[in-house]
Amino acid sequence: MASFKKYCVTGKFKLANIDPAAVPFLKGDEEAQREELEALAVRLDDLQNKLHAEGRRKLLLVLQGLDTSGKDGTIRWVFSRTSPLGVRVKAFKVPSDDERAHDFLWRCHAAVPAAGEIAIWNRSHYEDVLVPVVEGLIDKAETRRRYAQISDFERLLTETGTVVIKCMLHISKDEQRKRLQARIDQPDKRWKFQMDDLSVRKKWSDYERAYEKALAATSTDYAPWHVVPADSKLNRNLMVANLIVKTLEDMKLTLPPASPALNHLVVQ
Ligand code: AMP
Ligand code: MG
Repeated sequence: MASFKKYCVTGKFKLANIDPAAVPFLKGDEEAQREELEALAVRLDDLQNKLHAEGRRKLLLVLQGLDTSGKDGTIRWVFSRTSPLGVRVKAFKVPSDDERAHDFLWRCHAAVPAAGEIAIWNRSHYEDVLVPVVEGLIDKAETRRRYAQISDFERLLTETGTVVIKCMLHISKDEQRKRLQARIDQPDKRWKFQMDDLSVRKKWSDYERAYEKALAATSTDYAPWHVVPADSKLNRNLMVANLIVKTLEDMKLTLPPASPALNHLVVQ
């Protein structure tokens, strides 16, 4: 398996140095790749079951990326075999009036995983250091405070038994053009297209810069960022699936010990 290290954010970095079209996690032909993904999805279900049985620790997967980068598709495929009982998915939208009346982490804290759960965030608290930065709604001092607050929040989570995985799905501008056009051209995809997607696309380089700064400032030992080359959907799915499976395996999950009284118990 390819190494995650190359894609883990450490210090200052440039998104331009990571090729969105790279396919480090693809081996063999497409059939073999689909089989690998299926095997990983099954393995993930088994590990989730153990996480639930252990009932102590938690896993949080943060998915970020620009429109059409594949956040929805990653969740659909990577968790295709995971029981819905064990996962909690939260899609973060433009904050409501009630959410805006609170600090930006309020709605996030409400969506963290409970003991034994996996929570998946489709967008996250990172939107609050992307959209307002690009739109000029917060200044540099406030942005820096938010980076620190995010790292403090993630430290609180990790110190209370949550393993945090953060993935930025990295696509090229041309791949986004194709995917947006497909949403316009294919009637069954049209519902996904919003006019606003085009104005965000116009600010592509501003978003890239905001991402670079946010990821560099918040990639910590306890909650590192991974940049996932995502022009290839299969590469993206395989990288995220491998990362989650490896993380859960490294947690050395164990089933709770059964009571010795069960050894000779026969149900009548
Ligand atoms: P989608 O994920 O395509 O359903 O779109 C959700 C939209 O909500 C995106 O345009 C996000 O940028 C936006 N959004 C989510 N969280 C925030 C936030 N905290 N501040 C501003 N916009 C946000
Ligand atoms: Mg959208």
